[in-house]
Amino acid sequence: MATNKIPMRMCIACKENKPKRELIRIVRLDDRFELDFTGKLNGRGAYICNNADCVEAMCKHKLLSKSFKMNVPMAEYDYLRGKFLENREN
Ligand SMILES: [Zn+2]
Repeated sequence: MATNKIPMRMCIACKENKPKRELIRIVRLDDRFELDFTGKLNGRGAYICNNADCVEAMCKHKLLSKSFKMNVPMAEYDYLRGKFLENREN
C-alpha cells in the first residue's frame, strides 16, 4: 500500500506545520489579496491557521510583507480579517 502523503504547509503567524487543508490560503491577485477558501485561486500564496489568533497576529505584525516581499497596505489586512470573520460566522 502506498502511503498518501498529506501536504503540509507552514502558518505564517505561528510557524507551525499543519496539513494544508486545515489552513487558509492567502493569495496575491495582481494588486490585491484574497482569502482562498476553495484552493482554486491562482497566484502566489501564503498559509495561515484557521483561527483568530493567527489572523490577528498576521495583521498586527504585518506578516504578509515578509511572505510576499512587498509592502502590504493596512487596508489589505483589514480586508482579509473582515473576510475571515465573515467566513467564520457562516
Ligand atoms: Zn498559525
